[in-house]
Amino acid sequence: MATSIFTKIIAREIPCFRIHEDEHVFAFLDINPLSRGHTLVIPKEPAQTLDQLSEESAAALGRVLPRISRAILRATGATAFNILQNNGAMAHQVVMHVHFHIIPKYADGSGLGIQWPARALGADEGAALATAITDQLQ
Ligand code: 5GP
Repeated sequence: MATSIFTKIIAREIPCFRIHEDEHVFAFLDINPLSRGHTLVIPKEPAQTLDQLSEESAAALGRVLPRISRAILRATGATAFNILQNNGAMAHQVVMHVHFHIIPKYADGSGLGIQWPARALGADEGAALATAITDQLQ
């Protein structure tokens, strides 16, 4: 697996404002926050994208994300937040190490801006897609 700047942060070769560390997970403040409290939660495992991550690391991330989110809300006073998790350069991933952004959203509008160009899902398309994806889960 390739290493990235986040590997160096975990190894303390690059400084950061650390929030949490356990056997599998590391969390720290984003260096260019979208809003106050913007935090990155990453696995120590250097998987590039979520689909490549082990179940052990995924479970550890899932266990701690709600707790870190609660701490950020309490510390900042924010009452809303987004979790953002980009996979692949086309999906705006810049650092090729799995990371979850926790981004508080404030009344002044700071936080994550979202475009949501939704369209209707046709019945035939939905049935075919659900079958295709379900088959791949086997
Ligand atoms: P991505 O676009 O890959 O989902 O987001 C990568 C995030 O990592 C960005 O929000 C960026 O500000 C953050 N980041 C990149 N390099 C560093 C760094 O050296 N230290 C910290 N704390 N954050 C970083």
